[in-house]
Amino acid sequence: MEQVDVLIVGAGLSGIGAACHLRRQCPGKTFAVLEARDALGGTWDLFRYPGVRSDSDMFTMGFSFRPWTSAKVIADGPSIREYIETTAREYDLERRIRFGHRVVRADWSSADGRWTVEAQRTETGEVVQLSCSFLFSCTGYYRYDQGHAPSFAGLSQFRGRVVHPQHWPDDLDYEGKRVVVIGSGATAVTLVPAMTDKAAHVTMVQRSPSYVLSLPSVDVIADRLRRVLPANTANSVIRWKNVVIMMLIYQLSRRAPTLMRGLLRKAAASRLPDGYDLDRHFNPRYDPWDQRLCFVPDGDLFKSLRAGRASIVTDRIDRFTPTGLRLASGQELDADVVVTATGLNLLVLGGMRLAVDGVEVDVSDTVAYKGLMISGVPNLALAIGYTNASWTLKCDLIIQHVCRVLNYMDAHGHQVVTPLAPTTGPLRPLLDLQSGYIMRSIDQLPKQGVAAPWRVYQNYLRDVYLLRRAPLVDKGVRFSRVPARPRDAIAL
Ligand SMILES: Cc1cc2nc3c(=O)[nH]c(=O)nc-3n(C[C@H](O)[C@H](O)[C@H](O)COP(=O)(O)OP(=O)(O)OC[C@H]3O[C@@H](n4cnc5c(N)ncnc54)[C@H](O)[C@@H]3O)c2cc1C
Repeated sequence: MEQVDVLIVGAGLSGIGAACHLRRQCPGKTFAVLEARDALGGTWDLFRYPGVRSDSDMFTMGFSFRPWTSAKVIADGPSIREYIETTAREYDLERRIRFGHRVVRADWSSADGRWTVEAQRTETGEVVQLSCSFLFSCTGYYRYDQGHAPSFAGLSQFRGRVVHPQHWPDDLDYEGKRVVVIGSGATAVTLVPAMTDKAAHVTMVQRSPSYVLSLPSVDVIADRLRRVLPANTANSVIRWKNVVIMMLIYQLSRRAPTLMRGLLRKAAASRLPDGYDLDRHFNPRYDPWDQRLCFVPDGDLFKSLRAGRASIVTDRIDRFTPTGLRLASGQELDADVVVTATGLNLLVLGGMRLAVDGVEVDVSDTVAYKGLMISGVPNLALAIGYTNASWTLKCDLIIQHVCRVLNYMDAHGHQVVTPLAPTTGPLRPLLDLQSGYIMRSIDQLPKQGVAAPWRVYQNYLRDVYLLRRAPLVDKGVRFSRVPARPRDAIAL
């Protein structure tokens, strides 16, 4: 069986980041990347809907070690994909990635101090095995094969076309068509202005509103800094600047929700026509950051509402009709194309099943250690990012921490690192965001404790200390050696 030191699962932003950091920080380690799809880029290769883009700035979403150099800081999907591809090429990773390999299970053997990993070739169904001493799951957080698609009454009678943003058809022509986008999250607010380029009209139908905040797509301060500072220094100054701004917005939202609600309302009002029904369409029932804030570059959503090319309807969908939608209020909406931007389905560990010494692991029974390993499961890390900042900002810290741990184990003659569960204190859900996709699947995730190292703070400053600086030996983890086997002992 083929053996590597580290096996990375997934070749999205996190998996490629993990491979680059390994090359930089642990040059002696052998590694491979198994990727289920035939392309790298993960999210940024899968999603192809019009206008697909980040809603985080690319300085915090990109890699810490490779400056984002484009003027657009809210970047479109193809640019992000290219950034990931170029990085992989620069680090000569292509030879290390096995495409079309979906990891289906991993078995830890304490006697061997190794994982045996089973992957299925997506083309042939053939199962291949690899062995590694450390398994790094960079599988993102959602199902690739299926987006969340609630069932709507009457759907089969609808004579138009229904598409999900996760599976955007190449042949969809919406020129001159009446488009309805169902949803109110980041994908819906991206799609609506983007589709007004060709559609006759785009209507966003939302059950309840989200907070929407406009951000400049070009960062003027960043541009100036890049002109006067070396690229890497500029990148890290800009990264910190943006981290601090996002943390301030988040902290203000949590500590002074009424003030923040007022500020967000005022900002939206300034971009909408006089008399626009803000309370109905832009005033959520929940407090800012109970769910993710939606960011729109240069107010593009507001611009298309103002121009009359798009509109928002806040109502419940009663049913599909042959010609469109009927809403609970009785209103009928005619549509040629309906886009169901109704969200993602969460998936932990990319659907991999785990067993430790023959005993299946139920991930929901485990407790996250530093938000990156799970109790009772040795030599496994998960790249789980922030929900209140760039996902990848945390993944980058996680990867650096894993490299620290690997180097520490080599230096001290350990082969195994096992996180332990806290012995006291209540356990809580891992993520405290109330967004639909999290609430639907929170039970699948590991739990978190009430204090470090088991608490997930969603706070970059704390994590910089915890993951880059704090001692590696603490009460939440045990480092050990693989016991010598009789035949090893004889050989010695
Ligand atoms: C439309 C959209 C917009 C987003 N915008 C932002 C944003 O602006 N800012 C932000 O911070 N985050 C954003 N996110 C979250 C986004 O997913 C992450 O930022 C980032 O792309 C995650 O990278 P990743 O590598 O961790 O996961 P992914 O990009 O999901 O990549 C995971 C990879 O693992 C592979 N994989 C999964 N399971 C297996 C398996 N069992 N075996 C082998 N391979 C497997 C997948 O095929 C995929 O290639 C967005 C998400 C979506 C869907």
